[in-house]
Amino acid sequence: MRTTASFHSYATNHRLVFGDISSDPKTAIAKANTINGGKNGPFRAFIVVGKVFTKNNFEEVNGALQDGSVSVDLPMFFTDGEGLPEDSATNQTDVVDIAPNVTFLNQWGRLMTDDFIIQNATSGSNDRKTAPTDILITDKWPSNLPRLSKVGFAVPQTAERATNNDKTIDATSKDASPLYHFSGSESFWEREPFANEAGKHTRFIGLAPFGGKQRWHYAFTLKKDDTSTPVNATECPYLKEDKVEEEPLKRANEDDGDPMAKKPRIAPSDCFLCLSNPNLAAHLVVSIGQESYMAMAKGPLLPGHVMLIPIKHNPDFCTESRPSTNPRHRHPVRFVSPKLALELRKYQIALKQMHPGGVVFYEIAKAKGVHVHQQAVPIPQEKINNVENLREFFIKEAKECGFRMENNGELRDDQTNYFRIEFPNSDPIVIKLNRQNPKFDVTWPRKLLAQWFFGNKERGDWRNCSQTEAEETEAADKIKGDFETFDFTR
Ligand SMILES: [Zn+2]
Repeated sequence: MRTTASFHSYATNHRLVFGDISSDPKTAIAKANTINGGKNGPFRAFIVVGKVFTKNNFEEVNGALQDGSVSVDLPMFFTDGEGLPEDSATNQTDVVDIAPNVTFLNQWGRLMTDDFIIQNATSGSNDRKTAPTDILITDKWPSNLPRLSKVGFAVPQTAERATNNDKTIDATSKDASPLYHFSGSESFWEREPFANEAGKHTRFIGLAPFGGKQRWHYAFTLKKDDTSTPVNATECPYLKEDKVEEEPLKRANEDDGDPMAKKPRIAPSDCFLCLSNPNLAAHLVVSIGQESYMAMAKGPLLPGHVMLIPIKHNPDFCTESRPSTNPRHRHPVRFVSPKLALELRKYQIALKQMHPGGVVFYEIAKAKGVHVHQQAVPIPQEKINNVENLREFFIKEAKECGFRMENNGELRDDQTNYFRIEFPNSDPIVIKLNRQNPKFDVTWPRKLLAQWFFGNKERGDWRNCSQTEAEETEAADKIKGDFETFDFTR
């Protein structure tokens, strides 16, 4: 008989993955149920990389799922909607509940459960950014995946291999930095783990369709905190120029006059910081003003870590523009609205009153960013007496990285493509994000704060600080209570 303890450890960690099951979904589901009930189960999730349905089988299989004659014993997710009826749900919704325990992740469907994040991604889109995730599913393979790998392909060069990879997936995989990346294939292939941008390792597995001669099943344990380097690990196979991120720095600096260069790439309805997004993490919102709002940071560096966010969906704080007075400049002058600047100032003052030990404010604004926000991080109790050293620490580290800091911590005319940090009782530091500082990494400031606050960079990665929704709600409620007497919007 299984003890409660071992049941729990399996239930929290194991996931089961099958390749495309559309050739025989009922048998595949029965197989998954059997494995789930067997000696290695139960599993936390059953992921199908590809199709469940076809136009021919949809009515029968879906009918059986709806009337319960076929049931899935564990949460099942699939990523290819072929065979599904063309209605508004399957066309416009990212995550669609098909039947009890059966969930379809649409082209860019992303789902956060209590203990993991799963993201589907579709090739061919250069503009689509992917947030960090635990499990990534893509319709095609990254084109440079075999680079640096010593694992030979079972089927070295089939026509399928030649057409089934896509360069945009390299950038997607890089951005998502998943622990596991799956994609469908005619043949099974598992690459050696490779280093990703989250400081961890990505494992890529191509799975063949269910029931064939090639391997179509995979099981794994999600070790989210594992930063160790596997013995056979390689460096990241993706080439530098695949990174979509580097384009905006170059473009903005060259000012090539492309009006599209400043177009936000993610729509407000999909933006994690837009109040109009129906999937907004509303439980994190602390206070809402006229021009901006305050929310607890997801995966906070420490308790009390919040963000100040303009309500307008804008990549930097220049939410307004006016025609240039210089007739030779055909582009409008973009500027920070005085009302927004004033309200942000009020929030900062309120936060400083709430945290007499001091608050660090920092922001990264990019003309090609998504939705700008300013981080507000209170100084931990044990560091308050030492806080005058924090600025020197940043300057020393910036010099070591070879970053060029702006004189007097000032931003001159163009208020975009910069990093700015404000310390308690000392001058800010500004680093322009242009060709002079090509190595600037958006995770740098948080890692440095973690290092200075706690003596190591562990909490510099927000994913190491992730909380369950219940924990988030409790922490945000605490901040709301503390902030209440300082909240000028009330
Ligand atoms: Zn937004």
